[in-house]
Amino acid sequence: MRILLIEDEKGIADFVLKGLQSERFAVDWANTAEKGLLWAKVNPYDAGIFDIRLSGGQDGLSILKEVRAKGKIFPVIILSVTSDAQTKIDALNLGADDYLTKPFSMAELTARIRALLRREKKITEQILIVGDLSLDTRTHVATRLGRPIVLNRKEFALLEYFMRNPGIVLTRNMILDHVWDMNADPFTNTVDVHIRFLREKIDDGREKKLLKTVHGYGYKLEE
Ligand code: CA
Repeated sequence: MRILLIEDEKGIADFVLKGLQSERFAVDWANTAEKGLLWAKVNPYDAGIFDIRLSGGQDGLSILKEVRAKGKIFPVIILSVTSDAQTKIDALNLGADDYLTKPFSMAELTARIRALLRREKKITEQILIVGDLSLDTRTHVATRLGRPIVLNRKEFALLEYFMRNPGIVLTRNMILDHVWDMNADPFTNTVDVHIRFLREKIDDGREKKLLKTVHGYGYKLEE
C-alpha cells in the first residue's frame, strides 16, 4: 500500500513517515505543493495525506481540488492546525475523505488510513488467508500450517500485496508501484530479488508452492 504525504514541515513529515513505514506502508514524501501535485497526478497511490498550509504556492485544498478534477479517487486525509468547522466542510466538499487536526497521534492517523482503505475495499479483513498461509496485518506475522514465519518489512509489504490480489498475475511494474516508494529504481532486479527471499520463507521445503512465476508477465500467489 503506497501513500503520498504532502507536508512542508520536516519535523511533522519525519514523524508521519516513521510511523507509516513502521506500519509497512510505502510512502512518498512531497515537501512542496508542486511536487505533491505532480506526483498525485502521475503515480498510482492507495491513499494520500495532504497538509493544508504549505509554504509558497498552492495549499493542500487546492491540490486536492486539482487531483479530484483529474479523476484521481484515492482516499485523502487533510491535515490542519485549525479545527474550524467551515474549513472541514470545505475540505469534505472538495473531495477529502477525512480531516485530522494537528497535533494528532500516529495511532489515530494510522487507524484512520486503515479505515479509509477498508472503505475503498482495498483492505477488507485484518487476517488474510490463501490456502494454508495466513497473514495478520495488525501484528505483521505470517503463518503457514500454523507455523510462524518471520518477515522483514519489505517481505511483509510484498506478501500483503499478493494476498490482497490472490490468483491475479502481478507484473513487476505493478509490484513496484504499490510496494515500493518512488526511490525504487525500475531498472534493477530488486522485485525479483525480494520475491526470491519471500519465496524461500513461504515455499521452500513445502510440497505445495503458493508463489508462482508467470513467465514473461510476473508472479501470482494462489493455492
Ligand atoms: Ca504545513
